[in-house]
Amino acid sequence: MNSLLSEKPAILGGDPAIPGGPPEWPFPDIAINRVLQQAQQTGAWGRYHGPCAKQLQQKLAELHQTEQVILCSSGTVAVELALRGLGIGPDDEVILAAYDFEGNFKNIVTVGATPVMIDVDPQNFNLNLNLLEQAITDSTKGILVSHLHGGLVSMQRLTRIAHERGIPVIEDACQVPGAVIEGQIAGSWGDISILSFGGSKLLTAGRGGAILTRSPQIAQRIRLYSHRGNEAYPLTELQAGLLLPQLETLDTQNQIRQKHVDILLTQLGDDSGLISFRNQQLSSQSVSTPGYYKLGFLYQPSHFSGLTRDLFCQAMQAEGIAVYPGFRALHAIHSRRRFRQTTELPVATECDRNLVVLHHPVLLTGASHMAAIAGAVFRIAQHADRILSLSASDQL
Ligand SMILES: *Cc1c(COP(=O)(O)O)cnc(C)c1O
Repeated sequence: MNSLLSEKPAILGGDPAIPGGPPEWPFPDIAINRVLQQAQQTGAWGRYHGPCAKQLQQKLAELHQTEQVILCSSGTVAVELALRGLGIGPDDEVILAAYDFEGNFKNIVTVGATPVMIDVDPQNFNLNLNLLEQAITDSTKGILVSHLHGGLVSMQRLTRIAHERGIPVIEDACQVPGAVIEGQIAGSWGDISILSFGGSKLLTAGRGGAILTRSPQIAQRIRLYSHRGNEAYPLTELQAGLLLPQLETLDTQNQIRQKHVDILLTQLGDDSGLISFRNQQLSSQSVSTPGYYKLGFLYQPSHFSGLTRDLFCQAMQAEGIAVYPGFRALHAIHSRRRFRQTTELPVATECDRNLVVLHHPVLLTGASHMAAIAGAVFRIAQHADRILSLSASDQL
């Protein structure tokens, strides 16, 4: 037997796999210190307008080959503004995956439209394009698509289906800045695309978001809606300044994350009890590289002697590893009266019960940590019986 496997998991009193615990995000960065110092020296931090916001708009526009960039206070607000920019309101339907960020559902309801849920793909747990066409009706005024947990949706195929029918696409790229989908950067595929600069995100200003579009009409409608005699949802000059140096390192960091995900998946192998994401439906004619805000897995309790997902996550956290249950499925937490569904949602239900996510900061640390994570999973599987029995008698 592998000597590693005979050691106890941390939840049973063994040494944690990563004794320092999950790294704090964002990492310390000299470039960020410089921005803060400069803001203080020039007084820019106290101004409504300055050069950083303009520069950020230009850089994001270049990066996403788009003309119109509207900076705003969060990704959540950006999604609402996108829906408003498309003129979506009462009597309209917007299609989204039943397993998606909850704010996306709420925003559709906020503008008065009806969310129409379709199930997620069993391979990558994102919107299932095989179910898209049958969900479209005359009332469909938008398709809201997110790329989540290491999965990517084929935007070639999605935009073909949508545009043949004249339906605009809102691409939520909040979790995948800098990712490439079928040869083109994420956030450049939608008629409107969304970025988030929230505190935990890959690009962070603590809070913030952006809306990208090539349509001057859509951008104008959003600007008119946002103006209340003053901008109602602005990103600050200081936030913009903090984001600029991060754009410079995004590609390198994405490559490191990808390398470490590859190492981790190799270490885990095919029989770890964690089913990983497979982006098999993407066109093989061109390059795709996912983003990793959270790396998702479908947890298989049967591989862990029936250990619940929550206990598995607790055991991983005891190892110093930031693994958590994924978010809830939208149909599982919202009243049936508030949405429409065209098929059953078995895969989203499975995600609701058993998706687990690894938070990204550890993916920028050493490769040895990937081995430590895999080792922790194996140890927990091997000692799952004991963890279960101690938990049952309240001794954990
Ligand atoms: C974080 C996130 C958002 C919202 O962004 P905030 O800036 O936190 O409001 C929207 N969609 C997805 C997929 C996200 O991960």
